[in-house]
Amino acid sequence: MVSIREVGPRDGFQNEPEVISTDDKVRLVEMLGRTGLRRLEVTSFVRPDVIPQLADGAEVLRRADIPDEVSVTVLIPNERGLDNALRLREAEGPGERRDLFQEVNLFLSASETHNRKNINRSIEESLSGLERVVARARGEGLRCEGVISVAFGCPYEGDVPRERVISIARRLVEAGCEEIAFGDTTGMANPAQVREFFEEADLPAELTAHFHNTRGQGLANVLAALDAGVRSFESSFGELGGCPVPKGATGNIASEDLVSMLHEMGYETGIDLERLLACACEVQSVLGRPLGSHVLTAGPVDWRRD
Ligand code: ZN
Repeated sequence: MVSIREVGPRDGFQNEPEVISTDDKVRLVEMLGRTGLRRLEVTSFVRPDVIPQLADGAEVLRRADIPDEVSVTVLIPNERGLDNALRLREAEGPGERRDLFQEVNLFLSASETHNRKNINRSIEESLSGLERVVARARGEGLRCEGVISVAFGCPYEGDVPRERVISIARRLVEAGCEEIAFGDTTGMANPAQVREFFEEADLPAELTAHFHNTRGQGLANVLAALDAGVRSFESSFGELGGCPVPKGATGNIASEDLVSMLHEMGYETGIDLERLLACACEVQSVLGRPLGSHVLTAGPVDWRRD
């Protein structure tokens, strides 16, 4: 079984130029929740003046009807973001309905320059802040995922030493993160590097690969990670999401391309590919322009077996 966390509603919508209406977001999140996906990153608690695309995150969470078996993740940038998230969760009142989210995603970069440009902190400052946030989140019964950006290469600094990435990951695990995701944020990774990275990475946590298809190597990197034993991935339906660096580049690998490849290889994901394609098709019509996903264009493989 391979686990896939759909990150399109957060990582994708955040990086699309258009502002998608709350109604459309709620409808798309509800459709995704019925594809068989078990992990869904719905939104983030960042400041609305920084990321206006996700300013309605709390409303989307409140309105979307997501099946209980789907674990909902929200991205938390810092302690104030956690305060806001907890306030919303409590505002629903105990016992009235399920918690609006079960997991939080906390992030930092593996290079000093990227971390400074992104969150204006040193790596050490980020880590000590995250240690506090993780402790509080765990105290509230939330599962914590630590995400390390530019883990395979940095557009500002170039090489990112593997030892540094692993030592950051170790700090996050010691702080209480049960899952660590390694992000190839600007698509610099290659399959040989990915295989070596995950063969060497030995951490007492679930290891997740978050690849971008910036240079068309996303699925090749997935295969390399699979060979090295990784069974958890993150992706975006419709290949949603760009990236500010390099300008105009594409973002995450497409969930439907990933699911199609895994199913064709004999891996189970629990996801209904046709339903996932319906979500990608729907978001394409909401955005009103063709998206980069291959399986959305070509359709699933048809072996004519029945
Ligand atoms: Zn991404």
